[in-house]
Amino acid sequence: MPGQTTSILRHLDAQVLAVALILFCLPATADQPARVAVVIDDLGYLQTNDRRVLGLDERVAVAIIPDGPLAPTLSRHAAGQQREVLIHMPLPGILHDDCKYRATCIEPQWTPMRMAAHLQWATQRVEHAIGLNNHQGSRFTTDGDAVNRLVGSIDLLERLHGTRLFVLDSYTVPGSLLKQQARKAGLPSGRRHVFLDHDPQPEAIAKAWKSLIAVARERGSAIAIGHPHQTTVEFLENHIPRLDEQGVELVPVSHLMEPSPNGLPVPPADRAP
Ligand SMILES: [Zn+2]
Repeated sequence: MPGQTTSILRHLDAQVLAVALILFCLPATADQPARVAVVIDDLGYLQTNDRRVLGLDERVAVAIIPDGPLAPTLSRHAAGQQREVLIHMPLPGILHDDCKYRATCIEPQWTPMRMAAHLQWATQRVEHAIGLNNHQGSRFTTDGDAVNRLVGSIDLLERLHGTRLFVLDSYTVPGSLLKQQARKAGLPSGRRHVFLDHDPQPEAIAKAWKSLIAVARERGSAIAIGHPHQTTVEFLENHIPRLDEQGVELVPVSHLMEPSPNGLPVPPADRAP
């Protein structure tokens, strides 16, 4: 009976879809290790610490503040190592706000065109950037209209200058809308799960690292953000090489963006000028 066949097929389709969804959402298994990505924020100001960050495993990404006097040299150096580079974009915050004295922030009331012009300036300071994450920004990222304009300006940047950026929500405040809105707009996006060094004491970093691995095992992957503190860099120097034996894989952060930009970082050479 054609009607019955169609209904069986529909039923099968639903089953196949359900299985596919379950497989997609499954946490890491023995065959597929849990994946973690690490991004070091706030680079561009401290010669010694920043250089040491560039000595870490090349899968560790760097997020560079465009105003930082070292931004151009660091971004070139990092890209030369095939390390992923992000623009660490200062945005106005509620509790923490560097906008007034050390950084040029994108203001919530700016038009998408003005935001895109600022992003274009940032891509010239932080060459080879393939992504963007926010520095501070709790006031901005909880303002739906401002976030929509920022997401629009990232899209505009691509259309005007051919520069495609993924969006990593640093998630500096519960209720941050950056990842959500970027995803709605079709931009590859993700969010930070663990801050490694809110407290930069080695014991606190070790605790945060454990929770990163636990989150990654539970959901299949997790993203950490750290800062160029001596304790953080030392910790990562010692603990990244031990991830393999824990059955955890360190991957470049672009691999954890949804949807992934082809699952691979975009090599600087393939980028439009
Ligand atoms: Zn920051």
